[in-house]
Amino acid sequence: MDLFEYQGKQLFARHGIPVPSGEVAETPAEARAAAERIGGKVVVKAQVQVGGRGKAGGIKLAENPDEAEARAGEILGMDIKGHTVHRVWIEAASEIVKEYYASVTFDRGEKKPLVMLSAMGGVDIEDVAHNNPDALAKLHVDPLTGFQQHHARWLVYTAKIDEGAQKGVVAILEKLYQAFIELDATLVEINPLIWTKSGDVVALDAKVSLDGNAMFRHPDYTELRESVTDDPQEKMAHDRGVTYVKLDGDVGILGNGAGLVMSTLDVVALAGGRPANFLDAGGGSKADEVVTALEVLLSDPKVKSLLVNIFGGITRCDEVANGLLTALDQTKATLPIVVRLDGTNEEEGRKIIAERAPSNVVVEKTMLSAAERAVELAKGA
Ligand code: GDP
Ligand code: MN
Repeated sequence: MDLFEYQGKQLFARHGIPVPSGEVAETPAEARAAAERIGGKVVVKAQVQVGGRGKAGGIKLAENPDEAEARAGEILGMDIKGHTVHRVWIEAASEIVKEYYASVTFDRGEKKPLVMLSAMGGVDIEDVAHNNPDALAKLHVDPLTGFQQHHARWLVYTAKIDEGAQKGVVAILEKLYQAFIELDATLVEINPLIWTKSGDVVALDAKVSLDGNAMFRHPDYTELRESVTDDPQEKMAHDRGVTYVKLDGDVGILGNGAGLVMSTLDVVALAGGRPANFLDAGGGSKADEVVTALEVLLSDPKVKSLLVNIFGGITRCDEVANGLLTALDQTKATLPIVVRLDGTNEEEGRKIIAERAPSNVVVEKTMLSAAERAVELAKGA
């Protein structure tokens, strides 16, 4: 579960990590009021779950409340890499001397948390890791003994953090690790972590991902989840208890079982297409589950063709076929749908489709031919 910057900053503040004071605004008028309360120069920042907002014009400086209102008017409603801006974060402007990078994440290979620090922040950290690997100090943490102050000091020296900022960075690293553990986060990242003219070290950006599986330990996550899933399909899928992931292509994918769905994505890519999303209808997809799945998938306007890839084990293909007919009837979907049914009762399933499905539904025998057909139809649509 990825949070917005403002939510990450609010969590940081609760864990003692210094952040500029700020407020959320959903209208230009609210932005003006926030700027008035904060006082002085403010920065208006688009709240979208994607990096590089600065370069995309989603971060603007305002000298006074009038300007804050105007800048918010420009940024609200803007599209940043496919994400619409519904909120801005108004915060006290900072005077930056240096921009650093700090993060804690999981290294699954090492089975340990990984703390990273760099004196080259504010830019894409992947670029630093690639072009300047020595500038990125890394430390794996033994989860039993935890992150100690000497670890933080080692990172600060290794990353060559400026002397005047070292104390502040050490303190923030310790708190950041604590926040990572206490929040059950999978990522806490500060880019940039800044050293200001007044000598403070402050988190200017916040990227926080929480482990959805730990929700039961954090009652307040439910509220966070509500606000982070802006996407109507994701909301719909979550409400109906189906596993749905949004991607950015145009072929919708419905499969049963995570493994089959993953390989379907690969085969669509192999056929030269791009999945728009995928929905895993689970191991025992009954007719009504297929109806739910189709409703979620077809409500996404980006889907130009749909690939239904079912392997009948516990799920019987005839049942899926019936579910599909019911769903098509209910949703009145007219877009091209390619169906591949294999496994238990496949003959019956294919027969049901062939005899009773509308003409926009075609059956293919193999996964590859089905993917090729779906990609072709998406392009033609
Ligand atoms: P991102 O582009 O989405 O990662 O957004 P960031 O919050 O990291 O901001 C991008 C850049 O905008 C930072 O690296 C800063 O250089 C600049 N920036 C953001 N806030 C301020 C501010 O208060 N003062 C100044 N001078 N620059 C800022
Ligand atoms: Mn950033």
